[in-house]
This record gives sequence, structure tokens and C-alpha cells, in this order.
Amino acid sequence: MPPIKTEGFVLKKVNFRETSVILTLFTRELGKIKGVLKGVRSEKSKISPLTFTPGAYIFTLVYKKKNELNLLSSPNLINFFEFKDRIFLKIYFLILNLIDTFLPEFQKEESIFFLLQKTVDCLQTNKRNYLVFLGFKIKFIEILGYGIKIDRCTKCGIKINLNFLSPKCGGVVCKNCGILEPDCVKISNKILSIIKFIKKVDLKNLDVLRIKKEEAEKINYLCNLVLYYHTNLNFVWWENEKDIFK
Ligand SMILES: [Zn+2]
Repeated sequence: MPPIKTEGFVLKKVNFRETSVILTLFTRELGKIKGVLKGVRSEKSKISPLTFTPGAYIFTLVYKKKNELNLLSSPNLINFFEFKDRIFLKIYFLILNLIDTFLPEFQKEESIFFLLQKTVDCLQTNKRNYLVFLGFKIKFIEILGYGIKIDRCTKCGIKINLNFLSPKCGGVVCKNCGILEPDCVKISNKILSIIKFIKKVDLKNLDVLRIKKEEAEKINYLCNLVLYYHTNLNFVWWENEKDIFK
């Protein structure tokens, strides 16, 4: 089979044997893919180490293999993003990590690819980094089809007294249904309207939103509950998110 030309974000790098690396990439054409890049850690290699550093945006050829590691070849660095400070950079890596954690291999996810591109732009231009993070996460959950539905009770359909969020239902539930759902958490009208706003507005325009960091942190917690209920991951993937809201 001829190789596939693709561009993508380096999500993860693991050293492999003496001189090679295994990269996990997120590409527009193939979704998330894993492949081995041979010989790049040898002294003779002409490939810049930045090309296989997490966070880089690269061109590569992919030789898809059955029952063995895919092969990557002829990599070329297209962009290595720079950010204003440590927190912006940290958020970038947290987002790459979410993509790596929640997307299966070889599932084409163009809308998430475009969302990631836009998010990187916003991390370089927007002022409030934690809002970019929240915006990405809410839109990511939406594309994955997990929610967050906020217009009506996800149980009975009514549009009033939406006082709870059910991570399992991926959306709000009303006062009456909430009593019957043991996993529900309380949600205020303010939080609800912020989520509504973030869902509707382009990431680029999120800076207009004036919210307290505690509110942002609460919404992040709700997002994580929804993600948690929709996956069977048995490790704590949200631990490093705390600093963002300080
Ligand atoms: Zn209801």
C-alpha cells in the first residue's frame, strides 16, 4: 500500500529501542495514529529533535501496517508553537492529553482536528487562558456526543426548574427528576447560563465573558463528570488541571 501523506500534532513520544521513537499523532486525515519513526535518535540523523517533540505540528508519511506498528517516515517540522507563559503551554498539553485519552485510534475526527487548530490560535491570542480551556472542553464533549444538553430536562423534557446536572444523561434534569437520579449534582442558573454562552460563542470571542475562576473551576468539574461517566478509564486523568484556575 502506498504511504499516506499527512500533517498532525505530536501528542506523545516514547523512546523505542536504541535510536527510534514511537509517536502518537493527531491528524486530519486519519484521526489519532501511532507509528514508529526509525533512527531519529542516532547521531547521524538529520531530523531535528523538535520534529518528534510533543506539541510539534509536523508533516509525515504513514505506512499503515497490519498486526504491527505503523511506520512513519520523512517527517518535517511545520510549526512549533510558542505561548505567552507556562500556563498557556500547560493548557496546550492538557488539551493534547485529552485528545490522546479520549479518542480511539484510526477514527477520523475532522471536527476535533479543526477545534484543536482553533484552540491553538486562541491560546496565542486570547487573554483568559482558562476560558479557552473550558471552551475547548465543552465543544469537545459536544463533538464526542456526550452532551452537555442544557435546554430541557434530559429525563422528562420540561424547560423549567432545571436545577441538576446528570453526568449519566449528559445534561440537565429538572427538580422532580433530579430527586430520582442518585448521581445528579446541583447546578445554579448562573453556571447554566455560562455553559450556554460558551456553547454558542466562538472560542475567539470568549474573552468577553466575565466569570470568577471558581465558577470556571466548577464548570470544568461538571465537564469532567460527564467525560468520566462516558468512559471506563480507571486512572485520574484530570489531576493536573488544578493550577489553571488558581
Ligand atoms: Zn424532568
